[in-house]
Amino acid sequence: MAGSSEGVGDKELPPILEQRCILQSEALSQYIMETSVYPREPEALRELRQMTATDLRNVMATGPDEMQFLSMLLKLMNAKKTLEIGVFTGYSLLATALSLPHDGEIIAIDTNRKNFELGLPFFENAGVAHKVDFREGLALPILNELTKEEKYKGWFDFVFVDADKSNYMNYHERVVEMVRVGGIIGYDNTLWNGSVVAEAMAERPFPWYIMESRDAILEFNAYLAADSRVEICHLSIADGLTLCRRLR
Ligand code: SAH
Ligand code: CA
Repeated sequence: MAGSSEGVGDKELPPILEQRCILQSEALSQYIMETSVYPREPEALRELRQMTATDLRNVMATGPDEMQFLSMLLKLMNAKKTLEIGVFTGYSLLATALSLPHDGEIIAIDTNRKNFELGLPFFENAGVAHKVDFREGLALPILNELTKEEKYKGWFDFVFVDADKSNYMNYHERVVEMVRVGGIIGYDNTLWNGSVVAEAMAERPFPWYIMESRDAILEFNAYLAADSRVEICHLSIADGLTLCRRLR
């Protein structure tokens, strides 16, 4: 599949195997999807997923199994205010919007408004578009502005980070101040296609854009493991998801 998109540049993208799932058995992954995920996926999400698969190279969209998990977490936490960095066509954003109460609020940041607008009708049909405050632009300067506002100190219940991997460390320093104590930050793709153990997988070549951000992910994972401000949980769901619960 050829394609160009923000965040990965416009070089030809080689085909990727097992993009979404780190489970070593495709059959097991398929079993989870077919038994427990697809039959329970809200209709709006299914339609958005199918539109994304048809219209765009969809390897960037968050998997439905991961969002099934995060949707339950959001409800368990009674989350009301969330922040998302990296929207694409909005699969994770729509799953979040569906999991918040009617007066829930989401600030969603992406450099690419076009892709967000492709997904927007699905938010409107589901009656959740009013929860989303989309901010177009580079995440770092937008976060810098938000951190200046007293209001946003300890404001968010949940933050989902799924944009450029080389900035995860920078995002963490900012969002850790803006999530409430006891709130959760989720970092997506922290197993980075399995490339974190590339040496052990020498038989499997990784595409250039995976190798490009591999060191950043390795450094970030080690950094989180030593960060006493948060409790962490590194999940092997999808392409790896690290949850951080703010402690102080
Ligand atoms: N969560 C989305 C997938 C996000 S893909 C879903 O579930 O579908 C990554 C997104 O990050 C892309 O849309 C890209 O435009 C955006 N992005 C990459 N670098 C960025 C940056 N520096 N600032 C803001 N957005 C960025
Ligand atoms: Ca992702």
